[in-house]
Amino acid sequence: MILQHRSHPVGLLATPNAIDALSEIHALPNPPLVPLKNEEIHVRRCRLAGDAVDGHFGCFRTSDLEHILQLAHGAPALIGHNRFSIAVARFFSGTIETHQNHRYIVPNFYWPKAHSGAEDFRVLLDSGLITEASIAFTFEKPTCSVCGHDIRDCDHEPGVMYGQQLCHYWYDGVDRVLEGSFVYRGSEPGTGILSEMRGSRRSLKHKRMTMRLGGKVYEVLPA
Ligand SMILES: [Zn+2]
Repeated sequence: MILQHRSHPVGLLATPNAIDALSEIHALPNPPLVPLKNEEIHVRRCRLAGDAVDGHFGCFRTSDLEHILQLAHGAPALIGHNRFSIAVARFFSGTIETHQNHRYIVPNFYWPKAHSGAEDFRVLLDSGLITEASIAFTFEKPTCSVCGHDIRDCDHEPGVMYGQQLCHYWYDGVDRVLEGSFVYRGSEPGTGILSEMRGSRRSLKHKRMTMRLGGKVYEVLPA
């Protein structure tokens, strides 16, 4: 199991219909204990992940996006991947949409107006100070785009051109979306718990690193 983050511009989109949103929120696996009313929540949507090659030279398969959107349903939204704080919002439902020749999952997310930080969060989002969204997920295998083998075992290097082909790897076997985070412009993709591994990408192919999270042990890709 490998833990990965990937970030891109948050791409906030128009608010979905509030009445539809309420019925979907109340149908979540762990729904609100107290039924919510339209006037009690804020709802926005964002592009959380897409099928473009990212800064890690990893890439989701377009055919996996629907599954990843389903995995994001009910996932917490955090600020800056801070898992030691309470989630600021929660993802639910959503669509797959095209943006600049790529396909993206566009989940909705809601948060309660009654929370003491709710208005601050809304202002940061709506005024454009929060500019990137980042998804944290686990997957089974980084598949080499050149030869189709596990890229940790073949001779190809992510980010290197082989003829006309840029080597990247596929995030294959995505099985969990841990959370989605909102981050500020200028923050590095993969910040937080993975940042200390920066600069060690080459060790990806020769040395397997692990981390413990929530009682489970994950293999970690360098950021
Ligand atoms: Zn290869």
